[in-house]
Amino acid sequence: MDWQWFRTQLLTWYGEYGRDLPWRPTADPYAVLVSEFMLQQTQVMTVIPYYQRWLKQLPTLADCAQAQRQDIFKLWEGLGYYRRAEYLHQTCQMIMYNYGGNIPQELAILITLPGIGRTTAGGILSHAFNLPLPILDGNVQRVLSRLFALTTPPNRNQKQLWHYSQALLDPDQPGRFNQALMDVGAGVCLPKVPHCGRCPWQNGCMGEQTQQQHTLPVREPAKEIPHRTIGVGVIWNAQGQVLIDQRPSTGLLANLWEFPGGKVEPGESVPDCIRREIQEELALDIRVGAHLITVNHRYTHLRVTLVVHHGFYQSGIPELRGCQAYAWVELRDLSEYPFPQANHKIIQALATSPSPPWPLEMAEGRVQSE
Ligand code: SF4
Repeated sequence: MDWQWFRTQLLTWYGEYGRDLPWRPTADPYAVLVSEFMLQQTQVMTVIPYYQRWLKQLPTLADCAQAQRQDIFKLWEGLGYYRRAEYLHQTCQMIMYNYGGNIPQELAILITLPGIGRTTAGGILSHAFNLPLPILDGNVQRVLSRLFALTTPPNRNQKQLWHYSQALLDPDQPGRFNQALMDVGAGVCLPKVPHCGRCPWQNGCMGEQTQQQHTLPVREPAKEIPHRTIGVGVIWNAQGQVLIDQRPSTGLLANLWEFPGGKVEPGESVPDCIRREIQEELALDIRVGAHLITVNHRYTHLRVTLVVHHGFYQSGIPELRGCQAYAWVELRDLSEYPFPQANHKIIQALATSPSPPWPLEMAEGRVQSE
């Protein structure tokens, strides 16, 4: 295999067509670290404003390490996969305290830090330190599967794919090469329609030469994604504040704030579910009122339908049974808390809907919240 031909073709193409992205010119390893965390599972155009805002507010690794966890989540809000924010924060703290603030340049050490797998480590070390380490994200797996006509599904062919990514890599310009490879994956060798006529590797692509470019990579049969209906309450107190609580520190959407609620059990109505969940999570009695909004949302492994009702505090002192913390908040202050994406539609609905139909006893101030 003439590896040099592949390198020259790709880097020449990159010189003309490579994307102008804000993290590309930087030589600051911390900025590279931030970009690599954000680019895990998120598209470039979505990442750009988050990256710029992050570096403006936390310009150094020390700033990130010292930041409050709530501020970290607020900066990440809307980017999804929130575990990455926590891992980035922890990684900066570990680098600060264990490595004197310097990002370790050994792959074996870097991949022991939270949230850093081999691809992220390869991206950081090749870009920030020009070390000859390959990458293998989803786009690269697709390009290599087509380029070398690999008929084993990528998730069962990792060893061979890493081998090709390493063999192709330009040892003199590894950072530039990896960026170029990502650009081919993101703009040319697209999942549904590969634009082979625009590809720097067309003349050496085995997938294209054997007309398999549209059927590669081979996919495993898709698993059905489970669906859950969740009853959610926007609970008001007599002061016109709403109740929010903070999710546990582990699991899906860890540490984010949300309107309380939970899974609707078989045979249960949504209002009954909301009443039960608020009692189980916070030990409060509430009255369930009118429907506010229904929100459909999809995570990678789960689809949810949030059926949201107004609710009204009746009695009880909040206990932290299924959450870390709770707060009664004015509507205008909700923006200070990091919420999962699906909850933003609830906040929007609250901002645009008329005041809820207050029960008589609340309107007269007979019910007081704790
Ligand atoms: S020639 Fe076509 S299939 Fe092959 S790598 Fe390029 S875009 Fe992908």
